[in-house]
Amino acid sequence: MKLSYKISQINDTIYRISLPLPGNPPYINVYCFKGEVNTLFDTGISWTWRLLQKALHEIGLQFKDIHQIIPSHGHVDHYGAANAMVKRSNNNIQVIAHNADAMRIEKGVYANPLIMLRFMQSMGVAKSLIVPLAILDIMFKSMGHKVTITHKIIDEVYTLRVGDYNAKLILTPGHSKGQMCLFIEKEGLLFSGDHIVPGVKPIILAGFEPNTSFPVSQSHAIFHNALKKVEKLHPNKIFPAHGEPFDGKLDRLINTYYKIYQLRKQRIYTVLLNNDCTVYVLARKVFKNLKGINLVLDMYLSLSETYTHLEAMCSEGDVIKYAFDNVIYYTAALY
Ligand SMILES: [Zn+2]
Repeated sequence: MKLSYKISQINDTIYRISLPLPGNPPYINVYCFKGEVNTLFDTGISWTWRLLQKALHEIGLQFKDIHQIIPSHGHVDHYGAANAMVKRSNNNIQVIAHNADAMRIEKGVYANPLIMLRFMQSMGVAKSLIVPLAILDIMFKSMGHKVTITHKIIDEVYTLRVGDYNAKLILTPGHSKGQMCLFIEKEGLLFSGDHIVPGVKPIILAGFEPNTSFPVSQSHAIFHNALKKVEKLHPNKIFPAHGEPFDGKLDRLINTYYKIYQLRKQRIYTVLLNNDCTVYVLARKVFKNLKGINLVLDMYLSLSETYTHLEAMCSEGDVIKYAFDNVIYYTAALY
C-alpha cells in the first residue's frame, strides 16, 4: 500500500481525495464538499486518517472545520477514519448514516470468531485458508474504528445541505443494506458509493447480523431495483467510491451488471449439474484467477459473491441445498 493521496478538483467547491487501500481496489475516493456545510462523503480506512488530514489541509480545511461526515455505507473503507476525525474536532462533526447500516458503523463486525469458524467450515473452506481468512477479518476490524452516528436516516430519500448545494441521499441497497447515493440534482452529479462502480460489478456482500449464525444474504433483486432507481435520475456524471468518474451510458453499464449476474448463475448451474458442490469449491471454479498476493481478500469476496448467487438461485428454485457432516452442499434442481 503506497501511502500517498491524490486530490482532483471536480468544480469550484467539490474535491475528490483518493486514499490508498491495502489490496484491491487500490484506492477509495473521498468526496469533499466545501462551503456553507463542509461535508465529507466517505472517509477511507482508519489507517489513513493522517493522509486525509494532509489532503484537507491542502484544500484549506482542518478537521474542526468539517461539519458532517456521511459514510455511504457501513463498510470499513467508507467510515473507518470517522472516529479519528470526530475525536480531533472536539466532537463537533455530525456523522450521518442510514439506519440500515447503523449497527455495522457503531458496533463493528458482529460475527464472533467461533461463529465465523463454523460458517467457514460449513462453506467447505480449505483448512489452509481458514487462518488467513480469520486474520483478514481481524485486519478489517483494525481498518474501521466504531463511531457514533449522530443522525440516523430512516427515509428512502433524505434532503440535506452539503457544501453549497441542496442534495439528496438516496437509499440504494444491495451491496450493503444501508448503502446510499448522494445526488446533486442541480448539476446532475451522482456520488454512487459502492452502488455503481464502473468496470466492476459491485459485489452483493453477505454480512453477519446480531444473533445469526449465518450471514444474511443481500438480495440481487433488491440491488437491481435500486439500480433502476438511479437510472431514473439521469445523472450527467457519476463519481464512484472506487475508480474514475463515469460519464458513459448508465443504462449500458446497468445492463452489463445484469448480464454478468445471469452468466454467473448459468455457470454455477452448469457446474452443479455435474457435481454437488460447497460454496468454496464453486467459488474456486467460478472465479478462476484467484492467486497471488490478493488471494485471501479475493477469496473472501468471491466466497461472498458465490454465496449470495447461490442463495438467490435457491429462492428462485434452480438450486437446492442440503447439509452433510455440518458442511452445506448445493445441487442443481432438475426440471
Ligand atoms: Zn462496500
